[in-house]
Amino acid sequence: MKIIRSPQAMTAWSENLRRQGVTIGFVPTMGALHDGHRELIRAARLRCDALVVSIFVNPTQFGPQEDLAKYPRPISRDRALCRKEGVDVCFEPTAEAMYPNGFQTMVTLPIIARRWEGEIRPHHFSGVATVVTKLFGIVCPQVALFGQKDFQQSALVQQLVKDLNLGVEIVVCPTVRETDGLAMSSRNVYLSQEDRKRAVTLYKSLRAGAEVIRRGVTDGKAVQSAMAYVLKKEPAMTIDYLALCNPSTLEPLCDVTSRVVLLGAVRLGSVRLIDNLLVILPWGLPNRARRL
Ligand code: AMP
Repeated sequence: MKIIRSPQAMTAWSENLRRQGVTIGFVPTMGALHDGHRELIRAARLRCDALVVSIFVNPTQFGPQEDLAKYPRPISRDRALCRKEGVDVCFEPTAEAMYPNGFQTMVTLPIIARRWEGEIRPHHFSGVATVVTKLFGIVCPQVALFGQKDFQQSALVQQLVKDLNLGVEIVVCPTVRETDGLAMSSRNVYLSQEDRKRAVTLYKSLRAGAEVIRRGVTDGKAVQSAMAYVLKKEPAMTIDYLALCNPSTLEPLCDVTSRVVLLGAVRLGSVRLIDNLLVILPWGLPNRARRL
């Protein structure tokens, strides 16, 4: 496996392979790799001839009060995982190479980034959209894989690629969970032992929302109450948001439709947890629900 640090060298490597008709797959990450990343890498491996993983803790997506300095950076372990999974290149640019003096262009998606994570972390998504656009320009992949774990981010990337004709196929892979259901995240290492046990309550709350939808409840407020009821049993958690949305636009829904996403974000001590569940009713709403 090659480790490339310079953006110019990365582009040269990709351009050379593309000239030979090689399909390049790309998994962008911030490192501290876990089984969620591993699944993205494996799914990518199946879809391409050459595979690039980037490891870059992107400063523009962190707010001033956030955990940029203390974000975990176990680089040797990350490289070992990539090597084991058959990654061809680990792209590890420095912040200076990505944002040299004089850098000024930022990419913003004012509508899809307006709510949920975007409301709580005001500059986060413009940092994400900017770094993804840059990484796509540097790595020149035909296909890039993202996790459903960051649902709003994956919807934003799909919109970005469409709006700017970036010509990269976006594949969104399911969330990988711990055995109790907690969504894997590089930030879970910050949880104390007690909070780790409590953390699964967020997933349980989303499951409760999905369950009432499957039982025929169509009122968005009733679905939200079912989710909040579960979370309130865990007083150590404070709710940032619990929402029922259109999965493409991320706009909130008053009523359940045949495809909805339940989004949740909570705080537990100093740790923020986010999670989501996509609820698809393949045969539309149950008859009972339609009559209500
Ligand atoms: P990050 O390193 O947190 O920026 O994440 C890099 C990619 O891994 C993003 O596309 C995430 O959505 C994805 N990812 C993170 N956690 C998980 C998970 N538990 N399951 C699936 N994908 C994940």
